[in-house]
Amino acid sequence: MESSENGPESAHSHLPPDPELRVKALEEILVRKGLVDPAALDAIIDMYQNRVGPRNGARVVARAWSDPDFRNALLADASDAIAGMGYAGRQGEHVTAVENTRDTHNIVVCTLCSCYPWPLLGIPPGWYKSDEYRARAVREPRKVLAEFGVTLPKDKAVRVWDSTAEMRYIVIPERPPGSTGLDQEALAELVTRDSMIGTGLPMEPQR
Ligand code: FE
Repeated sequence: MESSENGPESAHSHLPPDPELRVKALEEILVRKGLVDPAALDAIIDMYQNRVGPRNGARVVARAWSDPDFRNALLADASDAIAGMGYAGRQGEHVTAVENTRDTHNIVVCTLCSCYPWPLLGIPPGWYKSDEYRARAVREPRKVLAEFGVTLPKDKAVRVWDSTAEMRYIVIPERPPGSTGLDQEALAELVTRDSMIGTGLPMEPQR
């Protein structure tokens, strides 16, 4: 749904209470007993946040850029199109794809908690879950985007999409200039996690 139409809190209550606290407590115990190395944990989290995690989404975007039929199917029913690529799973049952165009830039937030399309993007980055991002993405999206290094032309509209347990969003960024002729694998390399949340743009191919 678009912002300003927030559903009830229960729409987000797909996790037990205080999961972060419980995870922190477990981590504390494991570290104290010398069973895990905090640096190794950070490395694993980084891997899921930045490397393994968002790669499925990147392949979806690359295919949408290359295959007009797939793009149309994705925009019509993303859950179905994505399931067809084998990327289904928890927190990814209901997904909508929103496409950036010359006129419109899309950005995704979960104003109540941290709903996020896990099977496509992995686990959400810390800032996505922060009170600041959740409040400001709706109130002043252009300012937030500028802080992420995305400055949009004044005449480009910004649409903010508020995720819930019922509906997650993936942004299909605009295909970068200079990417003509690249195959899907090379295109997927240009698709960053943030470009699929809307807080970034895809990379441009290196010459
Ligand atoms: Fe949520």
